[in-house]
Amino acid sequence: MPLFEFECESCHHRFEELMTVSDTRLPECPKCHQVHAKKLVSAGAIRANGGSTSSSAYSAPSCSTGGG
Ligand SMILES: [Zn+2]
Repeated sequence: MPLFEFECESCHHRFEELMTVSDTRLPECPKCHQVHAKKLVSAGAIRANGGSTSSSAYSAPSCSTGGG
């Protein structure tokens, strides 16, 4: 499980929390118990798995307006 670093925006206390990638909820600050922490970029702790995203640009044909 990756270790993320958070910084509380209320008391600016930095703490680390073990969270899953799919977990998007913010942890509670262990100092002031506020849920106003923002996620910091931790060097080394987070290792993103390489993935190739193929985006195909498809342009839709313009519809001709007209009615009969
Ligand atoms: Zn705090």
